[in-house]
Amino acid sequence: MAIQPARIRVLNDVPPRDGADAVLYLMQQSMRVPFNPALELAVEEANRLKLPLLVCFGLLDGANGFPEANARHYAFLLQGLADAAAALETRGVAFLVRRGTPAEVAIDLSERAALLVLDRGYLAIQKEWYGAIERKAKCRIVQVEGDVVVPVETASTKHEYAARTLRPKLQKIWDDFLEPLEPRKVENPAGGLIKRLKLKDGLDVSDPDRLLSELTLDTTVGPVKRFRGGYTEAAGRLESFLQDAFAGYGAGRNRPEAGAASHMSPYLHFGHISPVEIALAIRAAEDGDRDDRSAYLEELIVRRELAMNHVFHTQGYDDYARAVPEWARKTLAEHAEDERPTLYSEEELAEGKTRDHYWNVAMREMRETGYMHNQLRMYWGKKILEWSPSPEEAFARTLRLNNRYFLDGRDANSFTNVAWIFGLHDRPWQTRKIFGSVRYQSENSLRKFDAKAYERAVTRLCEAEGD
Ligand SMILES: Cc1cc2nc3c(=O)[nH]c(=O)nc-3n(C[C@H](O)[C@H](O)[C@H](O)COP(=O)(O)OP(=O)(O)OC[C@H]3O[C@@H](n4cnc5c(N)ncnc54)[C@H](O)[C@@H]3O)c2cc1C
Repeated sequence: MAIQPARIRVLNDVPPRDGADAVLYLMQQSMRVPFNPALELAVEEANRLKLPLLVCFGLLDGANGFPEANARHYAFLLQGLADAAAALETRGVAFLVRRGTPAEVAIDLSERAALLVLDRGYLAIQKEWYGAIERKAKCRIVQVEGDVVVPVETASTKHEYAARTLRPKLQKIWDDFLEPLEPRKVENPAGGLIKRLKLKDGLDVSDPDRLLSELTLDTTVGPVKRFRGGYTEAAGRLESFLQDAFAGYGAGRNRPEAGAASHMSPYLHFGHISPVEIALAIRAAEDGDRDDRSAYLEELIVRRELAMNHVFHTQGYDDYARAVPEWARKTLAEHAEDERPTLYSEEELAEGKTRDHYWNVAMREMRETGYMHNQLRMYWGKKILEWSPSPEEAFARTLRLNNRYFLDGRDANSFTNVAWIFGLHDRPWQTRKIFGSVRYQSENSLRKFDAKAYERAVTRLCEAEGD
């Protein structure tokens, strides 16, 4: 299948460079080999120009590290890079991982490249890198969207009010984007290219544990055993989910103990799997019925791409004053002086030292295993709003904790869902203390599922982390 033109943006008018050594692809958002349209476009271009393909990656650490990333995130990322390195080698594509920002690495290598292919993410830091590349790389630059089903600007040209306004726009066109992507044959294998071109400073990513130990990172939040990074792991998990847990997703997705979640979010965040690949697998699943399929596609496409829409259109998506809608800030401000019967420090929250037993259990799952079910994330966030001295402080704390402990943190989904706690993409509800007319969630919501079974599952998972 051809790569849909709506996924492709040519960022400058420069023709491919004559006499170049290779076509260059900066792998950044789509950290995988299968189902990666940026990679396949780069292979097509390399074949057309009769050149080998060089893929590069910029690894940040120390003072220069990726904002809010810690050893937990890096362990997962490096596992994914090892997986991608092996798959690229099998396909005859060279892979160079260097220390530096993705922009620095790509700009340097682009000096001898016929053209530079980028993939695409929407966080502010990614936009900064693309901006620097556009200003400084003196070759043709093409960007390919591969981590949403419907490209963000094709889905909608404005900040959407809620899922109900974006849903029909997506549903009308998503079939056009739900197509398989076959790997193109690499006609000019790159064997020995890095040596031949004398490209220095390449890091060996084949042993992620060793490389992790050599990086300067925040190690106060460590790697988890529950999730291993990389496409191979993601694909294996998807297959098990479809076989063992997908039937009943529609009914079970609101029950954390039901095991109905796919756990795809860390893999989606790191680009270790394509949402198109997941959606196609869901559509083709033999188990599961229409309800299961539409419930899953609602989460994977509508909710996830609503988050992309929000981040794309919101300068300051991590800032309470800009990310939270005006009506919600107004009502929360009107109730800012309401008495807070219970206040906790951020440390008490992080350590799960509240008087709410099941909140502490959920916090333990997050802190020790890097994940929490969506149903509990909502309760978790609403309680932080209730237990913090001000809505502004609650927003900042929720985001910090979210991004520190979740493997899928620091994502468009993180910023959008935290803002949802404070009223984004929602409507006013009945007014009450502290929350004003922002939706409240009480302890009663815990009665809708088997909280004891959930606690047993968390205990098992956390004990396994300690083994
Ligand atoms: C306070 C709060 C914080 C959250 N923080 C994050 C975060 O940091 N990173 C993150 O990826 N998600 C976040 N979410 C959204 C959601 O909880 C997770 O995406 C989901 O729980 C991931 O688990 P899963 O892959 O097993 O989900 P599944 O139920 O198997 O869903 C499949 C996929 O659909 C998407 N999805 C599911 N629920 C949502 C949702 N509410 N919004 C957007 N996309 C969704 C995800 O990509 C998910 O992987 C947050 C939600 C809340 C309420």
